[in-house]
Amino acid sequence: MNDFDDLLQANRSFAADFALGGFDGVAHAGVALVTCMDSRIDPLNMLGLKPGDAKIFRNPGGRVTEAALEALVLGVHLLGVERILVVPHTRCAMASNTEAELRERVGASAGQDASWQHFHVVEDQLASLQEDVRRVRSHPLIPDSVLVGGFVYDVDTGLLDPKF
Ligand SMILES: [Zn+2]
Repeated sequence: MNDFDDLLQANRSFAADFALGGFDGVAHAGVALVTCMDSRIDPLNMLGLKPGDAKIFRNPGGRVTEAALEALVLGVHLLGVERILVVPHTRCAMASNTEAELRERVGASAGQDASWQHFHVVEDQLASLQEDVRRVRSHPLIPDSVLVGGFVYDVDTGLLDPKF
């Protein structure tokens, strides 16, 4: 397993002064966040939160998928979530490539046909965000008391732009 030695060594340093033992899994700030897998996004820090404060669901594009809704329902009913942020971002690969382009690029990297691989590209980021926010707000198991907002995160300024 030495392929992971650097990370395991870093983990031992992390664990040496670990203070979250016995901590529950509730979102202590009452926040859930759906955002992109993009490495430029630091979801806790960008909201002034710390470990233990929020439920975070990430996927390519930061879309409200069925799995994201499942996570949000669990968050709202079992884990203390009272506010939900849906946060796609600027310069997202999922919103700036067509599915054909992503298949082409992945195929070139893989050295084989990738035309069968589905990629959930975003053709219109704002329209998709509006629809995703609507999906959360209208979900039968997410009550009106839960506040839902759609924001675009600017990866070049660090700012969240409220949209819906
Ligand atoms: Zn992205």
